[in-house]
Amino acid sequence: MIDGHTRSITYLRLSVTDRCDLRCAYCMPERMEFLPRSEVLSLAELDALASAFIGMGITKLRLTGGEPLVRKGFIDLVAGLSRHLGDGLDELVMTTNGTRLAEYADALARHGVSRVNVSIDSLDPATYARITRGGDIARVIAGVDAAIDAGIAVKINVVALANDNLDEVVALADWAHQRGAAISFIEVMPLGDVEASRIDQHVPMCEVRRRLSERWSLAPLALDTGGPARYVRTDAGGTIGLITPLSDNFCGSCNRVLVTCTGQLYLCLGQDARVDLRAMLRSGDPAALEAAIARAVRNKPLAHDFLIAPQRTQGVARHMSVTGG
Ligand code: SAM
Repeated sequence: MIDGHTRSITYLRLSVTDRCDLRCAYCMPERMEFLPRSEVLSLAELDALASAFIGMGITKLRLTGGEPLVRKGFIDLVAGLSRHLGDGLDELVMTTNGTRLAEYADALARHGVSRVNVSIDSLDPATYARITRGGDIARVIAGVDAAIDAGIAVKINVVALANDNLDEVVALADWAHQRGAAISFIEVMPLGDVEASRIDQHVPMCEVRRRLSERWSLAPLALDTGGPARYVRTDAGGTIGLITPLSDNFCGSCNRVLVTCTGQLYLCLGQDARVDLRAMLRSGDPAALEAAIARAVRNKPLAHDFLIAPQRTQGVARHMSVTGG
């Protein structure tokens, strides 16, 4: 699939639930209202939708949420989708908060999940519990270790937060590298109302980089994943991704589209335009579904227009847990 700006669209992020067992303060309000179950696609519908995209040229599928591992039957979904590996699909990967990874790592590996992104914003038990509003970092660390033992490549995702984890960026990178895991730092994005000021949370990536370079010398790495990350290699040999959706954007090479757990297709994380694929899916007309996807992809917006500035913050009303991250 080629969009109207000659970008090749090969990467689908599919959210399998909006529910999560954590309440990260920058992601959602404490009393987040989740969708009624009837609105969420069934496992069979998620499979049908992902399969349609794979048939149209998607080669990398990321399952996300909400927290994918809280969805009942998630492993069955993965097992089913793994039939496409080597037959259209090159990579089946997921994003998780890791709280249930120790339990499921072996099954994920068995069904062809080759890489997981695990979100860890702090290694300090109290700070982690504060950011996640109740999470237990020991469980997440056990999950990371289980995934590594199962042969799954792990990348740690850290949202840089002004008042929470700036002092920990070197320790986090050290910790990940000691385990042979990659790590990426990301700027907080203005997605949804979270009862806190985005200005107070936001840290430009140059500040993270400055702190990392006090410890290591950082050399640019030519590793293009088609995403908004730029990679550096430390002189100790570890890889660090620096994701700068705000202070710089890399929309020109964007290769991805997103589908929510209710079947809404978003062509850009930072734009509101969407297409309701659930209605198409339920109409039982695969040709109409494919035509709708192709039409939507042709109209993929050129860029997001996120902004976090003292005078004005501009984002989208949806929380990240709704679109899937
Ligand atoms: N539950 C899984 C997890 O924790 O990774 C998957 C869903 S979560 C919404 C995906 C990623 O989005 C996480 O790494 C989280 O830190 C990130 N995220 C959520 N809200 C964000 C925001 N406003 N800005 C930047 N990243 C955000």
